Amino acid sequence: MQAGDVVGGRYRLDRELGRGGFGVVWAAHDETIGRAVALKVLSDEKAGDEEAVGRFIREARTVGLLSNPHIVTLYDYGRVQDGERSTHYLVMELVRGRSLAQVMRDGLPEPAVSLRWVRQICKALDAAHRNGVVHRDIKPENIMITDTGEAKVLDFGIARLLSQPAAGGLTSTDVVIGTPVYLAPECWAGLPIDGRADLYALGVVLYQLCTGRRPFTANQAVTMMYAHLNEQPLPPDTADPALDRLILQLLAKKAEDRPADAAEVRQRLRDLKALRDRKGGTDPEALRQKADDAWRRGAAGSPERAAEQLVGLIPQFARAFGTADPRTLRTCHDLALWLARSGRPRAAVALLRELLPVLDGHPRARADVDRDLERWERDSADTAPDPARPLVLAELLDGTAQSG
Ligand code: ADP
Ligand code: MG
Repeated sequence: MQAGDVVGGRYRLDRELGRGGFGVVWAAHDETIGRAVALKVLSDEKAGDEEAVGRFIREARTVGLLSNPHIVTLYDYGRVQDGERSTHYLVMELVRGRSLAQVMRDGLPEPAVSLRWVRQICKALDAAHRNGVVHRDIKPENIMITDTGEAKVLDFGIARLLSQPAAGGLTSTDVVIGTPVYLAPECWAGLPIDGRADLYALGVVLYQLCTGRRPFTANQAVTMMYAHLNEQPLPPDTADPALDRLILQLLAKKAEDRPADAAEVRQRLRDLKALRDRKGGTDPEALRQKADDAWRRGAAGSPERAAEQLVGLIPQFARAFGTADPRTLRTCHDLALWLARSGRPRAAVALLRELLPVLDGHPRARADVDRDLERWERDSADTAPDPARPLVLAELLDGTAQSG
């Protein structure tokens, strides 16, 4: 399988996006509908493995059940037979962005940004759990952060329907399923699991996002297992005791000691006041420096990162200066700029159009916006429609952008 190949008479492979235990994920072009898609192709060596094929089909059926802006959308499942060889593939929405693992490698995001992503993941988990689906492999590699700063859960490769028997972590072949760093005690112990195993994994992700380290470090699966089953993680020591409590409760050894469901976690994250109002977040000088920092990133060739950072900074500007303050509006305009420079002039135009009515009392800013609007409207004509939901100014300002 290589770039240029057409799979299933319809999907032209473009470039490799990622590689995992089951095969390769490609960016591809759906020649029939004429849109960009992602194709997850089961590797040849796994195509003969009944268990792997079964899992692959199960992934299609499980994701197919779910429809949520924070879960990758499944379009199609296919199999092509070529003599002895059969190729199985999933066709999904192409998510433009980077995995949370990649994002974290470049440094910890702003706390407000991290918490917004985790709230969005809670939405995804809530939707999955309500449909009886447990993901079972929540980890930064399986969470994508889109270029507009939206979190999306992918890889339901080992997800399980709660109605399926043998809900424990052990399969018929006695292999512990999942990724050790994120695996809840009940999974290690082979006990029945439910959505709270995903909450545990989310607790590990949240711990990492807040502290930059893992709750347990061990270089062998056995010591990792021992830690998850018996050891207490070090206190995360975030700036907010309520957040510390939530993280530690997500990491509770017994599922019944964890929050009841993802909706509760999301609500508690929304209620965190202290962290949001923490000094530094509202210190005008510090804010300006962070905005400058975003600008430098953009100018240094990472417009997507600049946009991502500004999405997190704008609500802080709104809180510190007010929503109609020139500094806040200027930061929104900057966001539009980096959206345009990352090949998304349509998103930039949508945002600027929303800014126009607010700019009535600011003739100079208004002139700048008019000029850019005209330019990016021209650029929009030459670019494909933007698949992402446009940014909504009100949501951007109050810090709930993209999380609905
Ligand atoms: P595996 O089961 O092999 O881990 P994943 O579904 O996690 O497969 O995909 C592997 C990698 O491919 C992901 O970490 C991600 O970087 C990329 N990827 C997967 N699905 C998509 C998608 N729909 N859009 C963009 N990138 C994707
Ligand atoms: Mg994966």
